[in-house]
Amino acid sequence: MSTAIIDRIKKEIENLDTNAQPEEVGVVTTVGDGIAEIDGLKKAQMMEMIVFDDGEGKSLEETLATEDALYGLVLNLEEDAVKVVVLGEASRVREGMQVRRTNKLLSIPVGEKIVGRVISPLGEMIDGKGSIEADRDMPIERVAYGVMERSAVNEPIHTGIKAIDSMIPVGRGQRELIIGDRQTGKTTVAIDTIINQKYEPADKRPICIYVAVGQKRSKTATIMAKLEEAGAMEYTTIIATSASEASPLLFLAPFAGMAVGEYFMEQGRDVLVVLDDLSKHANAYRQMSLLLRRPPGREAYPGDIFYLHSRLLERSAKLSKELGGGSITALPIIETQEGDVSAYIPTNVISITDGQIFLDGDLFNKGIRPALDVGISVSRVGSAAQTKAMKKVSGKIRLELAQFRELEAFMQFASDLDDDTKARIDSGRKYVELLKQKQNEPVPFYKQAVSIYAANAGIFDAAPVENTQKIEASFLEFVERDRKSVMDAIETGRELTEEVVAGLDKAIVDYKEAHAANYEVVA
Ligand code: ATP
Ligand code: MG
Repeated sequence: MSTAIIDRIKKEIENLDTNAQPEEVGVVTTVGDGIAEIDGLKKAQMMEMIVFDDGEGKSLEETLATEDALYGLVLNLEEDAVKVVVLGEASRVREGMQVRRTNKLLSIPVGEKIVGRVISPLGEMIDGKGSIEADRDMPIERVAYGVMERSAVNEPIHTGIKAIDSMIPVGRGQRELIIGDRQTGKTTVAIDTIINQKYEPADKRPICIYVAVGQKRSKTATIMAKLEEAGAMEYTTIIATSASEASPLLFLAPFAGMAVGEYFMEQGRDVLVVLDDLSKHANAYRQMSLLLRRPPGREAYPGDIFYLHSRLLERSAKLSKELGGGSITALPIIETQEGDVSAYIPTNVISITDGQIFLDGDLFNKGIRPALDVGISVSRVGSAAQTKAMKKVSGKIRLELAQFRELEAFMQFASDLDDDTKARIDSGRKYVELLKQKQNEPVPFYKQAVSIYAANAGIFDAAPVENTQKIEASFLEFVERDRKSVMDAIETGRELTEEVVAGLDKAIVDYKEAHAANYEVVA
């Protein structure tokens, strides 16, 4: 760990110590819905852990040491009382029970071995594979790194999805929103991105954290099975909360994800955090706030919901060299209703993030999957981080698709169109085909570069549109088998040098000659 990081941690600890107060004892005055109101804890801090006494006259140390100590989390500081949510069996809390402060802000124990595990937002292992040795307690809430402590985003994080990596590139340390209606493939984009990290060289491979906020247990289990099958659990931690759990746990889950991410980022590592999804998070926060009797604001969400999401996503960062250069890339997910991006929570999160990947229900139903709406999806910082190879091929595809969208409206009059327009529509349709991708089959960037280069160079010319995917697959196979050195050169050099371009051009000519059958119309 760099000395600057250690200094920062020291400072945090000092800050905590200066806040340390002599032991304060409070009394539960009312309890219900998992929320307890407590009298007498005047100095309690927001997000501080408090512990309920079991009435057997134990000291604070003794209480903390008991296996089943019952904790609460301070969430409302009121004039004459504090409100806490009970983290655990709320039925054990009774009126008149004594409560003590712990002087400790809520934190999550993290260690190297957390990778590959499924945990709760409080850091309990919930996959039945035993406990881990923690190395540091990471605060759940924390002030994000400041501007001076950061550096510009300068390295790509590859999603393995052609449409994204070519046209909406994401950089390490960026916050890119995945937004769309229900069942449009949002989770799939995020999971495929995690799977794709297996193609990164080990020293560049980010630690991935998938945060399930109020998802069905069966869905989270399926995701875990998919990641395991793909060999991606080896570098992934899942933070799971299900719809049946209490709203405070759902509220904490994304913050816990960031806390775990910071542990690795501060060691100079890259981290990818998927937050699935912040719509459910907002709903959990609304529910929790109602229980805490905070006044509701717009769309009945509490007034500070924007601040909640901004301080969460602000923790995604690319640290400066002095701080070790680690990063947290955040992929928050938002579910829209009927494509309405102007609702309260979507607009909030759009304005907090550095771009959005918009998934469209109509495209999805038409079979264009991933259902990316290229027209309104953007990435505001990632292109600075794109590999030279991808940069070189992406300009043309963007232009072709934009032209195609304009012409699409005229397609129904196809018979009246001039040859030039027809050719452009044909080319546009082939690019659309090229960008279709099966789920859980991310494509490493060097293969993407080969495919898109070949498309730009006209490998699909004269072939029927239906054959696009077949030609792409067999051309990739051909290059991998017969022109391995070209493929390898792109993988390691990450650019299309003159030599590589010459190699690819030759490969295209040779391929066309050898695979004339792929250019015939299939009956
Ligand atoms: P929800 O709103 O329920 O969270 P979602 O937007 O996260 O849904 P997914 O769960 O990722 O969407 O995908 C919805 C369905 O579409 C799933 O059955 C998934 O298998 C399928 N699907 C997603 N992407 C693709 C793809 N590229 N090709 C084929 N099927 C896909
Ligand atoms: Mg989903």
